[in-house]
Amino acid sequence: MNSPDWQALYEQVCNHARQTAVLASIEALLGWDERTMMPPQGAQYRAEQIRLLAGLLHSRRTDPQWGEQLARLAESPLMADPLSDQAVTIRRLKRQYDKDVRLPQRLVEELAQTASLAQHVWQQARRNNDFKAFLPWLEKTFQLKREQAEAVGYPECRYDALLDDFEPETRTSQVAQVLIELRDRLVPLIGRILGSRRKPDSSLLRRYYPRQAQEAFGRQVAETIGFDFTAGRLDVTVHPFCSSIGPRDCRITTRYNEHRFQDAFFGILHEAGHGLYDQGLREDQYGLPLGEAVSLGIHESQSRLWENVVGRSLAFWRYFFPKAQEFFPQALGDVSLEAFYFAINEVRPSLIRVEADEATYNLHILIRFELEQALLEGDLRAADAPGAWNEKYRQYLGITPPDDTQGVLQDIHWSAGLVGYFPTYALGNLYATQLFQQAQAELGDLSEAFERGEFRPLLDWLRTKIHQQGQRYLAPELIQQVTGRPLSSQPLLEHLEAKFLPLYES
Ligand code: ZN
Repeated sequence: MNSPDWQALYEQVCNHARQTAVLASIEALLGWDERTMMPPQGAQYRAEQIRLLAGLLHSRRTDPQWGEQLARLAESPLMADPLSDQAVTIRRLKRQYDKDVRLPQRLVEELAQTASLAQHVWQQARRNNDFKAFLPWLEKTFQLKREQAEAVGYPECRYDALLDDFEPETRTSQVAQVLIELRDRLVPLIGRILGSRRKPDSSLLRRYYPRQAQEAFGRQVAETIGFDFTAGRLDVTVHPFCSSIGPRDCRITTRYNEHRFQDAFFGILHEAGHGLYDQGLREDQYGLPLGEAVSLGIHESQSRLWENVVGRSLAFWRYFFPKAQEFFPQALGDVSLEAFYFAINEVRPSLIRVEADEATYNLHILIRFELEQALLEGDLRAADAPGAWNEKYRQYLGITPPDDTQGVLQDIHWSAGLVGYFPTYALGNLYATQLFQQAQAELGDLSEAFERGEFRPLLDWLRTKIHQQGQRYLAPELIQQVTGRPLSSQPLLEHLEAKFLPLYES
């Protein structure tokens, strides 16, 4: 073959991937609808739709002719420069193909259908505090996940195979190492904070915050940090998420509690952070690796960066607090900025992960990470999961859930078949602070800009360094590339100490 033919073959391969992405985006739209709009009785038929699409997608992704074309390209002169757009695209597509072909079609369809049905059982079980109703689905999910891991293969343990779906080429042992390092320094820090006599008055966050005002304020803040509502939506759901349907169509969701200001507000900021990443991806590469997020850990770094590092900073609230007082004159009219800032940064061991403070949050992740490894390996029976859950909460956080709704049933992940996903939340916190430290090293102290309501310099930096890179690098490579050093627990610990010690020990 001469060179123009390689080019033509490359275009053909990319077109196949782009068409697959169109089909996947239809599945994403059905998934969004299922969790926001669909009436409960639509669940059975939706599961059929999802199963059919999952099957169609799998056969496109494992198309033998496409696989053969990818194999030829992987040996072609297009690979000469390993960091060229074409070489990166071919390498990533081929790796995914090699993984996908190991999964039997039957297993893929069963996983999709089970996830769709199990989510509805979980929603009801959570509402009724009825773990027994969910138990058969939990058993089935982990059984299927074991089959998936065995089919795909793994370097060290089954969990590696599942983690790889969310954090490509990262091993369980590597994640465990950094999380244990973090835990060993975090637990004493939390102990110091909890031992302090200074406490915030967090009751001010439980005053009455009308839902409509919460939504209007949340929208304004999301827009100010750069979320584009002409290319996005905000809706209500049980479990908040961000889902991109395609270029210029990014959907975020939240849930409102009129007596807990922080839930929806920081939820919106979090999901908007995910949305900013998706809205910053290269549109010309949509459906191809260079137009896709690196990993869920990196995705989560963007949401946690906006939610916590920026959104719970004093500088951020110097700008937004007067506006919040206008939106909630009754709740915040007599509150000082300092009291509010301390309240939104209260450290207190709690039962619900999504409501946890920045310091204790990572312990919630560690608990799930340990439990799902045990469930997957068969060291823990699904029936014993509630007891094991409660025991770990007592051990790590010193509290015991009064019921399974606030315990093992609280998260959607296992019902949705997302096993191996939780560690990406902790990785996100670690990446977020390491990236933010680097942004400030390059751009200077950003707090003055935040105080003026200017978030563009930070967003532009993230666009260039992270969003526009797509999957050019794997997550560990990207962090090394952008910050000049490998992933470390140090920046997160420094961030937590710098924030909480002055609040609690001054
Ligand atoms: Zn997130």
